[in-house]
Amino acid sequence: MSTAILPSATTTTSPFGSASHLQCRECGARYSLGAEYACIECFGPLEVGYEFGTVTREQIESGPLSIWRYSALLPVSATAALEPNLAPGFTKLVRADNLARALGMTGVLWVKDDSGNPTHSFKDRVVAVAQSAARRLGLSTLSCASTGNLANAVAAAAARGAQPSVVLIPSDLEPGKVVTTAAYGTTLIAVEGNYDDVNRLCSELIGDPVTDDWGFVNVNLRPYYAEGSKTLGYEIAEQLGWRLPQQVVIPIASGALLTKVDKGFREFIDLGLVEETPYRIFGAQAVGCSPVEQAFRAGHDVVRPVRPDTIAKSLAIGNPADGPYALDVVRRTGGSIGAVTDEEIVEGIRLLAETEGIFAETAGGVTVATLRALLRSGELDPTAETVLLNTGDGLKTLDAVSPHVGPAGTIAPSVSAVVDLLGGAA
Ligand SMILES: *Cc1c(COP(=O)(O)O)cnc(C)c1O
Ligand SMILES: [Zn+2]
Repeated sequence: MSTAILPSATTTTSPFGSASHLQCRECGARYSLGAEYACIECFGPLEVGYEFGTVTREQIESGPLSIWRYSALLPVSATAALEPNLAPGFTKLVRADNLARALGMTGVLWVKDDSGNPTHSFKDRVVAVAQSAARRLGLSTLSCASTGNLANAVAAAAARGAQPSVVLIPSDLEPGKVVTTAAYGTTLIAVEGNYDDVNRLCSELIGDPVTDDWGFVNVNLRPYYAEGSKTLGYEIAEQLGWRLPQQVVIPIASGALLTKVDKGFREFIDLGLVEETPYRIFGAQAVGCSPVEQAFRAGHDVVRPVRPDTIAKSLAIGNPADGPYALDVVRRTGGSIGAVTDEEIVEGIRLLAETEGIFAETAGGVTVATLRALLRSGELDPTAETVLLNTGDGLKTLDAVSPHVGPAGTIAPSVSAVVDLLGGAA
């Protein structure tokens, strides 16, 4: 471990800003800030801890229109925004009245549309924070195990940073995600196996001399990476006018995003940036990969791994690292977790597109369909203000939708042909 903890180091010039240490989520053991991710005592995951100073709404509002407006709350130096990066975040919060009406909701419904990020998914947020940490820790090659969107985000961020990158993916990924990753000039390695196999391979690669200067954003840089997801929670609260929504629906892959949106809300409450009002957090999974939903329904604290089989490949993590913590958040806030079939996922994608003009990837379809399912089961309150997360762009998962939509017809370029096609009503 290279960086020692010095109480006086938590100033704006500190390499990790107000972050002061890493802490085991299981036993509480503390470590200095380094490229560490598992507790030596109990193998529990490590999380970034902070000593926040005063942070005001005015400070945040005067910052850049990106995640860097929250630099004081992230494990980054105050100058992270000035280093080469993709400046993700501050995506649109769209009021979705048409979708609300279609679902029979009377409470206001919002879509937080993270498809507006530089590589069209929320993964640009987590990579930007991990990239900053990699620089501080002297890890010059960016790497990751990816279910698709992370591959795009790492390859693009490394290109912007003029850094080498090595991206490992399961070999059965959507062609849209393979092409859009390779285009950034990364070393793309397709591994015969599923995400969990790729992730295990990356853990084994750490410690091999060949990866000495590699920062695996979601493995040895995971504590920093995961903090990037807090910015989604911050933005929702700020964009609602510095207050919390009553319900949030969040897709679950590893479960990190869900837990960090909650962490972001709680930090805003603790810092006095928003009033403490009750909120409930709901999780969304595909039936073909629903280990966290299954544990929730069974009342279990442990998440039993599954073998994924779903069109929602970006959520296809069978052994989710943050699954137990996602369960905790959902139970503590009084939410629940739903799971939807591949058919419902496609319906969800189409419903959001047809009602709001937002074309989501399969993960967004999971979230919309889960919102609908949990309204039907009575678990979600249709009268409460609700935020739905759309975490990715439908252009990357065209294969899921293309069998179901297409032209109304192919005609000759004549007025009569158009009139005929429209049913001859002229
Ligand atoms: C990675 C991903 C998620 C979930 O992320 P976790 O933090 O692993 O739960 C959700 N949506 C999309 C589109 C993703 O790529
Ligand atoms: Zn521990």
